[in-house]
Amino acid sequence: MERGLAPTKDSAATAVVGAGVVGGAIAHLLAKAGQRVVILEGDSVGSGSSGHGHGVVSLIGKDFRPGPHFELGCIGAEIYPNYVAELIEDSGLDPMYHRLPSLALAIIDEEERIFREQFELHKDRLELRWIDGDECRMLEPRITEDARGAVLYEHGQVDGYRLSLATARAVEQLGGRLEMRKLVGLMSEGDRVVGVQHAGGQIACQTVVLAMGAWVREAEAWIGWPIPVRPLHGEVLNVRLPGPRVRAFILTARHGPILQRKDGILLVGSLGGVTMSGMDVDAKHVFDPHDTSPPVFDLAAHEENGKFMIERALRVMPALEEADLVAHLAGVRPLSADRMPIIGPVPSMRGVIIATGHGTKGIHLAPITGRMVAEMILNGRDLAGVPTDAFSPSRFQPAVGIGA
Ligand SMILES: Cc1cc2nc3c(=O)[nH]c(=O)nc-3n(C[C@H](O)[C@H](O)[C@H](O)COP(=O)(O)OP(=O)(O)OC[C@H]3O[C@@H](n4cnc5c(N)ncnc54)[C@H](O)[C@@H]3O)c2cc1C
Repeated sequence: MERGLAPTKDSAATAVVGAGVVGGAIAHLLAKAGQRVVILEGDSVGSGSSGHGHGVVSLIGKDFRPGPHFELGCIGAEIYPNYVAELIEDSGLDPMYHRLPSLALAIIDEEERIFREQFELHKDRLELRWIDGDECRMLEPRITEDARGAVLYEHGQVDGYRLSLATARAVEQLGGRLEMRKLVGLMSEGDRVVGVQHAGGQIACQTVVLAMGAWVREAEAWIGWPIPVRPLHGEVLNVRLPGPRVRAFILTARHGPILQRKDGILLVGSLGGVTMSGMDVDAKHVFDPHDTSPPVFDLAAHEENGKFMIERALRVMPALEEADLVAHLAGVRPLSADRMPIIGPVPSMRGVIIATGHGTKGIHLAPITGRMVAEMILNGRDLAGVPTDAFSPSRFQPAVGIGA
């Protein structure tokens, strides 16, 4: 790590590294509060996981662990509509958030068991109803005759790419900056960060937010603290289906989702999500947090995976036979060792905050993460009503050799 800061006129109060939904929401809320913010992005806005996700803002399924993670999901879902309204006002761009009835649909025994369990777990907290196959088809007639039933629920969906663009645009409209530069190191004095080193120079700042998605592990050597995050490969098909709009979001446990986007595109299939990837979602850690073997970044959309996803989706909605493929996308989600986001100050270097590891739920959790980190930076405290401690980077302790 370099010590000291060369003379430069370039400065900001906070440098946010990464222009995905998480870095974007944080930078937007800081700029809105009047902070001088710069976002550094090494590729392009929304080019990471954010531009490749389904954008589902739902609490049904096994993505959230019971406890603080689920609580964060509830608060995150609740603030979404207001956050989007603010963002549209500040950016002039629509991230296409919309709400529809949703079916957590069972067409095989295993899915029925999973979703009946989910129904029992959440029925006192969320507004849910168990409906049978006929009721599912009354809502959306193109659903297969094999449908056994579903949890009926209502939730939101948003376009992660447009959400990233809107946050970056809002930052600029509010007087902040977006610099297309890759962060290559931090500048420090003693145990305090004083700036960032990017591919084209330096920027002096008091606070650095590392919102680098699945690439965040690069920063371990700069801060001398573990950030156990790995890339979790995922794919999705974008299709156009002739005929009327699909009237519900459809989520399954083994056949992927079918999601009507606000602009009419259908998002079909999924790969690498918690129920499709075979990971043990009940384990304390889904990978060893001290494992430092190099991560595999598979950013390709594989033809055989496309076929697998469409075959599965056809079992749910045979009418998809008529659909035209618009795009087949792939990205890598930032998965933390315990599946919960890592949000908060780094114990080893004052002024550095981590905000990543949101795994399969980063689009859902971006606005609440933005509010949490903005509160830490602007007012030096945790956001009221949010179980912040559970997400602290200090829950992962260094192993010998980190940062050496
Ligand atoms: C197929 C699929 C489906 C998904 N479905 C959903 C869903 O339904 N709901 C949901 O909530 N989430 C979903 N997700 C997950 C969601 O996309 C992620 O959790 C979220 O986008 C993470 O956002 P982020 O900003 O942390 O990371 P990213 O979007 O990956 O952004 C990180 C950014 O940091 C930049 N960066 C990295 N290193 C540097 C550096 N050194 N210098 C400068 N910039 C750097 C990268 O270029 C990138 O732009 C899905 C993901 C996939 C792949």
